[in-house]
Amino acid sequence: RVSAEQGYTVVGTGVQTHYRVSSGRGQWVFEQAEPTASYLVTLQIGRYVRTELALGRVTGALVYPPALKEGVLADFSGLPSMMEFFEASFGPYPFPEYTVIVTPDVLEIPLEAQAMAIFGSNHAGGVGLVERLVAHELAHQWFGNSVGLASWKHIWLNEGFACYSEWLWSEHQGGPSADSLARQFRRHLVGQPADIILGDPGAALMFDDRVYKRGALTLHALRRTVGDEPFFGLLREWVATYRFGVADTDDFRALAAGYVEGPLEQLFDGWLFGTSVPRLP
Ligand SMILES: [Zn+2]
Repeated sequence: RVSAEQGYTVVGTGVQTHYRVSSGRGQWVFEQAEPTASYLVTLQIGRYVRTELALGRVTGALVYPPALKEGVLADFSGLPSMMEFFEASFGPYPFPEYTVIVTPDVLEIPLEAQAMAIFGSNHAGGVGLVERLVAHELAHQWFGNSVGLASWKHIWLNEGFACYSEWLWSEHQGGPSADSLARQFRRHLVGQPADIILGDPGAALMFDDRVYKRGALTLHALRRTVGDEPFFGLLREWVATYRFGVADTDDFRALAAGYVEGPLEQLFDGWLFGTSVPRLP
């Protein structure tokens, strides 16, 4: 329950169940029905306007300062088809709503929240440069928000999956394929210091870019090994099995084992617990 002076718009985590103006102040109530990690709770207050977006059966909205309207509407125009593609790839979107807030402030990076994402004014220039990030934040609703982490050392289950979703979207849109992006980023990774353990990177490195890219590469190596149909079946089973719960790396390995005849130990051990960069199948 939040109140703010009239003229301000409040967006909080959850579904808005109440709004009333009294004595010049607006009062909002939000209710969050799904289990939510505390880091995914957010409260945004500003002089915002709202544009509803049809995202299939999901209620979508863009919330932004009026001056940014043109850029926001252009840069997020791909959301409906992105939602359709991700639902086909990962299973049903886990929440009743998806709200994107664009703040008047410049933000270094966008950030996911439960059923929401927050972008900065610098991400809404209207020139389509942020589509990769739009895909990344939307993918977190499945990977990180609905399926949560049992502990932070398993962060690749959030960031590797969200990064791989960027590559899948690129491929789907007729841009560079996931395979060509994987090979490009693998070459880049080979030139980086080999001092990170993806399966347990430690607090200082948990948001290191290598966690994102090596995590995505792990998924690509798995996809190349098991084939497309089993790979996407695995992603959908992962999302369905651990929906609104928490999971860890061993849970994912155990589920993946059911999708291939041969052992996956070498693949997972190499990518998750080695420091050198394995070859892609
Ligand atoms: Zn992320």
